[in-house]
Amino acid sequence: MRIGSIINGQEYNEANRKTLAVHNPYNQEKVADVALATVNDLHQAVDQCYETFHQTMKKMPAYQRSDILLKAARLLEERKEDFAETIVKEAGKPLKYSRGEVDRAVQVLRFASESAKHIYSEVIPLDAAIGGENRLGFTKRIPLGVVAAITPFNFPLNLSLHKIAPAIAAGNTLVFKPAEKTPISAYMLVKLLHDAGLPKGALNLVMGEGGEIGDPLVKHEKVHKVTFTGSLPVGKEIRKNAGFKKITLELGSNSPNIIFDDVDIDHVVADLVKGAFAFSGQVCISAQRIYVHKSLYDSFLMAYIKKTEALVVGDPMNEETDFGPMINEEEAKRAKLWIDDAASKGATIETGGERRGTILKPTIMTNVKDDMKIIAEEVFAPIVSVIPFETEEEVVKESNDSIYGLQAGVFTKDINRALRVADQLEMGGVWINEISTYRQDNHPYGGVKQSGIGREGVKYAVEDMTEEKFIGINLNEERS
Ligand code: NAP
Repeated sequence: MRIGSIINGQEYNEANRKTLAVHNPYNQEKVADVALATVNDLHQAVDQCYETFHQTMKKMPAYQRSDILLKAARLLEERKEDFAETIVKEAGKPLKYSRGEVDRAVQVLRFASESAKHIYSEVIPLDAAIGGENRLGFTKRIPLGVVAAITPFNFPLNLSLHKIAPAIAAGNTLVFKPAEKTPISAYMLVKLLHDAGLPKGALNLVMGEGGEIGDPLVKHEKVHKVTFTGSLPVGKEIRKNAGFKKITLELGSNSPNIIFDDVDIDHVVADLVKGAFAFSGQVCISAQRIYVHKSLYDSFLMAYIKKTEALVVGDPMNEETDFGPMINEEEAKRAKLWIDDAASKGATIETGGERRGTILKPTIMTNVKDDMKIIAEEVFAPIVSVIPFETEEEVVKESNDSIYGLQAGVFTKDINRALRVADQLEMGGVWINEISTYRQDNHPYGGVKQSGIGREGVKYAVEDMTEEKFIGINLNEERS
């Protein structure tokens, strides 16, 4: 399979282009060759978006945008298995989680289809200002124009749709730059949206390396908004380069989960095994730090190790597999180094810690310290630390001791304590009696501190992808 960028519906995959091979992270088989876009192609893609915005998208009525998104949802349901298997092959995500990602992506399209019809504005009471009598003022939410969507490898379909679907709902056009590691589902998604009736020039796919193609895309003067999901270093670079453009940054975290002394640990143990090890911990809100009240610490740790060791590790294409490879060997080696570094400074490896190729065994660490990389930085790997605490005050302080603040989980039966702690946690979102890793596609989602800027969750992204325009009328008779 050889695929290329898609601009105005035309595919650019000539044989003489620079090519990148995509390999299955589990068995290293080649999945596809990708013909890379040049900077000239990128300019063409942006120009095409700019033209299609002014000629078509900004005039397209809401019901049509809504219909396209609904049709796309139905097509994605029909093509579910194709998409799920592609995500398994390009990302190494176990089949059950890949199917889950497709199901969520269908919902995102449905939410966006509904949102397209509910972009409300307001009437301004102009007579509230002295001299404002006989004036009518109202706002209209208008689309921005060209949106640059840059996406990561870990949810190649759903996180791309969290940008593409709201942008279409709002009437924008997009240049879409997916992660180089997972371009195939992106390619299939663009084709699907075109099949659903989206004007071809409204969604242009450019495939190339971040520095080469992403960088000029972010700087391009015809781009009105950059929406990025990915790592903190790249997010910082994008923030610097985006100039006056609107910007959304969905970055990393080292999510805390807090278990107070009144919790029945059986359910929590099972949920936190998923929360830390789903897709080998390569999830931005993966449970990285688990704080357990001292009275439950030993029983929690024992049960947690047992349940973790029962995970089915292996080929992500098998239905039963819970745990597969990391995205590549380089990442698995990096994570293993972080484990060894912590162990050399006194941390204990309770289970896991071994690497074979791209598979790093699910790893639980204890006796960790705040300055170890596995605590202070985003591990983005199957490594979780279990840490005892005594008081509420202490655990809130430790949880907040981070440059990140994306999502946290708090477990307790005491509602007053739950709400008090939720208020004090410096996070974009807090779940009570739910793991940090849980996300629905219709709540506001995004970080504080260095976890990001702006919110996704379809309705919130639509707001961010429109501009509020004011129109005022002077109704005094002498003016008419
Ligand atoms: P990444 O390395 O930051 O890459 C993300 C995207 O940025 C890729 O498409 C990449 O292209 C592109 N890129 C790289 N350099 C660029 C530049 N100079 N200018 C413009 N674009 C550039 O992230 P990743 O490894 O794919 O994903 C993992 C990270 O994403 C983790 O930190 C995770 O926490 C974060 N994440 C956050 C959320 C959230 O919602 N907060 C969700 C998922 C993931 P190439 O692939 O071609 O390099």
